[in-house]
Amino acid sequence: MKYILVTGGVISGIGKGIIASSVGTILKSCGLHVTAIKIDPYINIDAGTFSPYEHGEVFVLDDGGEVDLDLGNYERFLDIRLTKDNNLTTGKIYQSVINKERRGTTWARLCREWVVKQAKVPVEDDGVEPEVCVIEAFANDVFLMSSCVCLQLGGTVGDIESMPFIEAFRQFQFKVKRENFCNIHVSLIPQPSTTGEQKTKPTQNTVRELRGLGLSPDLIMCRCATALENSVICVHDVSSIYKVPLLLEQQGVCGFLTRRLNMPMETRPRRML
Ligand code: ADP
Repeated sequence: MKYILVTGGVISGIGKGIIASSVGTILKSCGLHVTAIKIDPYINIDAGTFSPYEHGEVFVLDDGGEVDLDLGNYERFLDIRLTKDNNLTTGKIYQSVINKERRGTTWARLCREWVVKQAKVPVEDDGVEPEVCVIEAFANDVFLMSSCVCLQLGGTVGDIESMPFIEAFRQFQFKVKRENFCNIHVSLIPQPSTTGEQKTKPTQNTVRELRGLGLSPDLIMCRCATALENSVICVHDVSSIYKVPLLLEQQGVCGFLTRRLNMPMETRPRRML
């Protein structure tokens, strides 16, 4: 199993969910089975009790799970069917920790076990176990891809409620080994209208913060209003979010990930982009 953790910095709503979905889409187009896990650091068990006025709508999965809208993006981009366990929250971990604390289970271990178990659950009609799990975590979000697991961790790096998850994934990367784990960090390049210059300081700061917490990004994807002059991976605003996978593919993201995670690149496209 290969795990891709998508974290986010500088601001929330930076586009981690779209990037996690897009990374999954281009890997799926290379013939891989991909699943996704979204990690939301809030203390609620799920999004079902949120006020829609404050948090927007919830997305309802086939099994009745009330989850973040990003799960809807994963299902549509990747053409997969997820379950409520593909959304991990602080509340779910607490519930599990309290139930199991007498057996000496730790937060990091529970989080790891949850991700490893859920990453193996087939999400397509062919019933094939995923190879990649994209994990979206906090702003420093994590998105795991299955047969690639894409993990998306919600929120941003540095949010206090995200800290236990960051520590859990710091430990996770050593457990699953380097060739099976990578981190994509999504950051913001502001371009103040007064100078028109693209500013990299917020990205320098968020990467330093992430490194200080023990995660080192393999890829930095920069959100910006216009195409970057000095490209890392440029994810500029586009007229439709469904153009984001093409944007990533054009910049060689798929080739980078398959080399970095030593994934077999087969000429068996499963879906044309
Ligand atoms: P996050 O997961 O970081 O909270 P989302 O992925 O939900 O952010 O994206 C926030 C909003 O920005 C959504 O409305 C999404 O459609 C929009 N968005 C994301 N990436 C792009 C892009 N490259 N171009 C235009 N709109 C985008």
